Amino acid sequence: MTEAPNPAPNLQETVAAVGREMDAHRGEGKVADYIPALARVDGNRFGMAVITTSGETAEYGDAWMPFSIQSISKVFTLTMALSRIGESLWGRVGREPSGSRFNSIVQLEAEKGVPRNPFINAGAIVVTDAVLAGRTSAEAIADIRDTLRKLADNETIDVDREVASSEAATGFRNYALANFMRGFDNMHSPVEEVLQTYFHQCSLRITCRQLARAGLFLAKEGQDPLTGERILSPEHARRVNAIMMTCGHYDASGEFAFQVGLPGKSGVGGGILTVVPDKAAVAVWSPGLNEVGNSQVGTLALERLAARMGWSVF
Ligand code: GLU
Repeated sequence: MTEAPNPAPNLQETVAAVGREMDAHRGEGKVADYIPALARVDGNRFGMAVITTSGETAEYGDAWMPFSIQSISKVFTLTMALSRIGESLWGRVGREPSGSRFNSIVQLEAEKGVPRNPFINAGAIVVTDAVLAGRTSAEAIADIRDTLRKLADNETIDVDREVASSEAATGFRNYALANFMRGFDNMHSPVEEVLQTYFHQCSLRITCRQLARAGLFLAKEGQDPLTGERILSPEHARRVNAIMMTCGHYDASGEFAFQVGLPGKSGVGGGILTVVPDKAAVAVWSPGLNEVGNSQVGTLALERLAARMGWSVF
């Protein structure tokens, strides 16, 4: 006798159920406090937004509240750099998980100024240099912001100027990394211009709703499934997803692949963008971070959502 197949899980009900479970965990983790504007964020916030490739949306909690995008911006600058200079980017930055701290300089020396991957800070700074090439930092910042506005279908996305200037005032390690790479001839524009661009991209404010919408093209091989517009070639979109899977969560990237099984990128603002190939994009936000620097409650929410929806790619 054959068993009746389980019915497909209902997205709305699953998002609501996982969200309610997360309410009991609000406040867990430690809010980033390396700059005052991030330290002030209310650690009890939790938001989650899903958008499917057919345009269905499901949200929970503080899905409408803007937060600091931080390292998740690296997904979008990588997309822009691949569009601008294509495969030649891989001569300047690798694609292996690093196993070192996200702002480590030791590995960079051993590898002669070519960072391990585009998501550690050194690699992201090289990617920003590629996005900046041939223009001023003001032009590049406006381009990054406008790209995100277009992808998110929302004109309100903007830079938090206080965060940007605090990032610059405290970004000594990023200055060290960029100057070091300049010494290896892997930084083409002036360091100050590159870093101003980088600090501003990290300081964009975005909501879970907007972030999920902005990442949706990665679920459909680089084509926005709702507008039909091609954002990135299928080959490049696959590479962005591969790097999100292997390098997207600092030193817990293996753990995220193990527990969630989806490409994702986290940031110290407490956000995580996750791609469900052929199905959806998911954004979660909860400011408290675990010891590795990933949103504690956000990660838990993604584990449960992916498990119940049967979304792991493995
Ligand atoms: N603005 C941060 C830095 O470059 C990014 C931190 C992060 O989200 O990893 O130090």
